[in-house]
Amino acid sequence: MKRRLIIGNWKMNPATLEEARRIYQSAKNISNKLNKTDVVICPPFIYLSTFLNKKIQSSLKIGAQDVFFEESGAFTGEISPMMLKNLGVNYIIIGHSEKRAEGETEELISKKIQAALDIGISPILCVGEKERDTHGNYLDILKTQIKNSLNKVSKKHISKLIVAYEPLWAIGAKDAMDPATVHEMSLFIKKVLSDIYGHDEALSTPILYGGSVNFRNAVDIITKGEVDGLLVGRESINSTGFVELLKVVDLL
Ligand code: PEP
Repeated sequence: MKRRLIIGNWKMNPATLEEARRIYQSAKNISNKLNKTDVVICPPFIYLSTFLNKKIQSSLKIGAQDVFFEESGAFTGEISPMMLKNLGVNYIIIGHSEKRAEGETEELISKKIQAALDIGISPILCVGEKERDTHGNYLDILKTQIKNSLNKVSKKHISKLIVAYEPLWAIGAKDAMDPATVHEMSLFIKKVLSDIYGHDEALSTPILYGGSVNFRNAVDIITKGEVDGLLVGRESINSTGFVELLKVVDLL
């Protein structure tokens, strides 16, 4: 039985704790009923501790949207891997295109990835080209992003790594990438990982697709795109749509 991984990135939403609790509760209710789907939601930092109350057992896992690489010290506004670990966070999104657009470099991303792995939290490394050209330059761009983002990560550490392929032009857009192209890109990412770490490691690294996924296109993207799961933005804060998405994926 193949398990799928669905990760919801709430980004800077919602504005109130009350609304956050409502969205969380509906994700929790449905994820407790799923058989083949692992669900992670990544709310803003400020809501994490509310959802990580250890007395409440749930199959819904909680992730963070970023982390800093240092352990502690004079780093105003930052959150350390240990703080997240102590809270019970299992996943961290790292290198999202919206953070890269704010100036996050691949050097910084690679430090964050290593810091998450060192402490035993799964990093979700986001990669993706800004635009497509007709000469295939976007493939080199993607390869460089992956290599640079992982340059501090040794083979023995990558078993917890997850890669999310998110072409920038498909994020927050009307349509997702077509599933056949998603398939090509997931194979390409496996090939790049295989060149760095070897065949078995590449095959066992989950590859997710992200960019305008909703309950209508999720099944085709997973089955025809042959990805291990999805990174979902807008649809993850639309409770009705997210519940429906999880239901249809779990039936696969
Ligand atoms: C994202 O930003 O990671 C994302 C996938 O967003 P959306 O689903 O809204 O396109």
